[in-house]
Amino acid sequence: MPEPSKIWDVAVIGAGAAGLMSAITAKRRGAEVILLDGKSKIGAKILMSGGTRCNLTNQNVTEKDFESEHKNALRAVLKAFSSEHAVEFFQNLGIQAVLEEGGKYFPSTHSGRAVLEAFLKEVNRLGISLETSRKVGSLEYQNGRFLICGEDFSYYSRALVLTTGGLSFPATGSDGAGYGMAKHFGHSLVPTTPSLTPLLTEDPDWKSLSGLSLPVSLSLWTDGKKKIAFEGPLLFTHFGFSGPSALNISRHWIRLRNADLFADFLPELSEERLRDKLLLQAGRHPGRRLKNILTEDLPERFVEVFLAKQKIPTALTLNQLKRPDREGLLRRLFHFPLRPSGFKGYEKAEVTAGGIPLSEVDKNTMQSKFQPGLFFAGEILDADGRIGGFNFQWAWSSGALAGRAAADLIRTLDVK
Ligand SMILES: Cc1cc2nc3c(=O)[nH]c(=O)nc-3n(C[C@H](O)[C@H](O)[C@H](O)COP(=O)(O)OP(=O)(O)OC[C@H]3O[C@@H](n4cnc5c(N)ncnc54)[C@H](O)[C@@H]3O)c2cc1C
Repeated sequence: MPEPSKIWDVAVIGAGAAGLMSAITAKRRGAEVILLDGKSKIGAKILMSGGTRCNLTNQNVTEKDFESEHKNALRAVLKAFSSEHAVEFFQNLGIQAVLEEGGKYFPSTHSGRAVLEAFLKEVNRLGISLETSRKVGSLEYQNGRFLICGEDFSYYSRALVLTTGGLSFPATGSDGAGYGMAKHFGHSLVPTTPSLTPLLTEDPDWKSLSGLSLPVSLSLWTDGKKKIAFEGPLLFTHFGFSGPSALNISRHWIRLRNADLFADFLPELSEERLRDKLLLQAGRHPGRRLKNILTEDLPERFVEVFLAKQKIPTALTLNQLKRPDREGLLRRLFHFPLRPSGFKGYEKAEVTAGGIPLSEVDKNTMQSKFQPGLFFAGEILDADGRIGGFNFQWAWSSGALAGRAAADLIRTLDVK
């Protein structure tokens, strides 16, 4: 292969959310930027995100919305380029962010495609060299520059931003290749697992509720102690459990291994209040059906399956409900062991937990502590957020910092 004739100031490897942000930021600060991606079409995750509506960021973002081994570094990065900065950045690209429930920001067009198109327009306007179908296979650092090689191409750059993502949704191009490249420069890896991935069940009763969504609280317990809980919709599917509460708890269930997963199907009520209600109603309307009381707070389809699971006939009246059955029912409604049989894995995980430790990068610049001129941003790093726009915010924050610092590094080298 002929030696590359040009030396780029900054090469960004991976044109996902973090790579696009890094490349645009570096170019705006005066660097000559090349942006490489292994896929022929970029931005698959931006297109599919938020059910194609693209949950851009969140109004309230703190390190508490994420998991990482180094939350202090995470906090610093999120502060340096906040969700307000992100909203302003998108406004400048012509994307108006509108606020929805839970502080979620979506583009006013409700379209991930509009977001991707705005990015591509800016890449074009700035004159960033975007090269697709360029799957990078190896990186070397020699004589003050990086040699970037793929099957039939090679490039030189003075600074390099690695934004190849994690292992989630590999069909979109992120297959973990970046971890090996980082390792080559001495980096380690916080062990990875899927995060925000659906959970599986073998229970035909739950499967029969496919398509039903209800607000729940899911909690994980080990040795009788609650470890973590998430409130939000639980979606029953033909294979198991999805929806925000199941997705949010998945990475913890996977990583805690033997923890027990419990569902509280009535998070707005308490066991005591429902007991009082049942007793009061039994006194006033002894012939009323139990099912009809429960359907005041729960969907009928769910109540029917749930009562059948407890071997309680749906026609049972309140005066027929024996105390042990009532107590068993109450306990299970508020503390039901879901016992997932597994999880969907990286193929369906919205994000990867684990990655390059934040302790191995400078939190102000995202520069590697081992290799000068090498920067990281996005999902390749050990930071994964919950549902709500947090993972994109991490890509925008870390991408903006890395792009800025990579361009500034080139400027200081030029002055010397
Ligand atoms: C279905 C789904 C829905 C989601 N919805 C939301 C949402 O609404 N809000 C939110 O905040 N987050 C959401 N996320 C998470 C969010 O999309 C990711 O956190 C974010 O895209 C990560 O950005 P990234 O740039 O770090 O990595 P990626 O987006 O994975 O980009 C990595 C890029 O690097 C390229 N690449 C990889 N290896 C190489 C190589 N060797 N050479 C060249 N190129 C390479 C890939 O082709 C890819 O384009 C969603 C994710 C999924 C899968």
